[in-house]
Amino acid sequence: MVPVAFPADQLQRLAVECGFELAGATPAVPLPDAAPYLDWAARGLAGAMTYLSDRRAPLRADPRALLPSARSIVCVGKLYRTPHEPSRHPLAGWISRYAWGDDYHDTLRRALLQLAARLQHAAGPFEYKVCVDTAPLLERSYARRAGLGWIGKNSCLIREGMGSWFFLGELLVSIDIEPAAPPPDRCGTCARCIEACPTQAIVPIPPHPALPARTYELDSTRCISYLTIELRGPSPAPLRPSFGNYIFGCDICQDVCPWNSRAPLTSDPSFFPRRTPLTLDNPPLEALAALTEDEFLTAFRATPVTRVRYHGFLRNVAIAIGNSGEPTLAPVLTRLVTSADPTVAEAAAWAIAQLNAPQPTL
Ligand code: SF4
Ligand code: SF4
Repeated sequence: MVPVAFPADQLQRLAVECGFELAGATPAVPLPDAAPYLDWAARGLAGAMTYLSDRRAPLRADPRALLPSARSIVCVGKLYRTPHEPSRHPLAGWISRYAWGDDYHDTLRRALLQLAARLQHAAGPFEYKVCVDTAPLLERSYARRAGLGWIGKNSCLIREGMGSWFFLGELLVSIDIEPAAPPPDRCGTCARCIEACPTQAIVPIPPHPALPARTYELDSTRCISYLTIELRGPSPAPLRPSFGNYIFGCDICQDVCPWNSRAPLTSDPSFFPRRTPLTLDNPPLEALAALTEDEFLTAFRATPVTRVRYHGFLRNVAIAIGNSGEPTLAPVLTRLVTSADPTVAEAAAWAIAQLNAPQPTL
């Protein structure tokens, strides 16, 4: 007898009860997207993110490497955009919106465990595995197959009418769930994200037989998000002026996307900007440059910002000060230029040179 698949509408109702705005399912089978992904990693576009390109990369080809009994992947999306807007002031640092509040890994993992429990209550016992971002899974590709949205030229998953400010998570389950159909690509002839990217990190790719509709890919080695979060050591000097006041991540290619112009807001207070001694949506560069390591860990405890670590953070702050054009900030660099960490010291010396450089006349 063919097993009856768990209904998609019931899955969506349970997911909403667990705090997810998007939910759908797709079979847990290998996707043709794996081949272009491996090609992208082999061409070095993952930069130093070795977890994307080393022996773990082929694991992404088949979700059953994570759960051998998997039959479906439940994909979910949780909105994180808040009513707050980041400061555009050049003397304040810019932290990407997703990092203003609690670390989303914990929040999503808790909600996915809750969803698994409710699904088991409704469908009977099954095996499952929770994945949030860190598991070797082509999560945007499966999310597209599960009907959550299309993958835009900026590489983000976009939902028509709702935009792209979503955290994604997955539940691999050993039961059949009624699958969804992927929605059409709605980027059309738009190229706003490509034109707005300050480092030209969204680059064309030759059409791949497995993904004929995808014409652009992300060169992580040029992306401010990668360069301010994942990269250890010095960032390429020619790209630094393009960082502006970004000190952790970059939202530009999402900010300019027309599908985000009326994106809904999250109601989850855990993603709102922390109000520690520093407000994370507009922290002053001068105060950030003066943080000790203990103060850094206290200010950003349990937020995604700790991923960059203290010295990576100071490196980013120094570069932002160098880009500020504000010579009164030079004194705070004198402490950083003597840092025992060579990356911080080099970034501070670069920033001092930037501030001392003759300003272009208008
Ligand atoms: S995050 Fe910023 S640097 Fe990276 S592709 Fe988007 S606009 Fe470009
Ligand atoms: S800005 Fe335009 S091209 Fe870029 S992801 Fe959005 S709709 Fe697609």
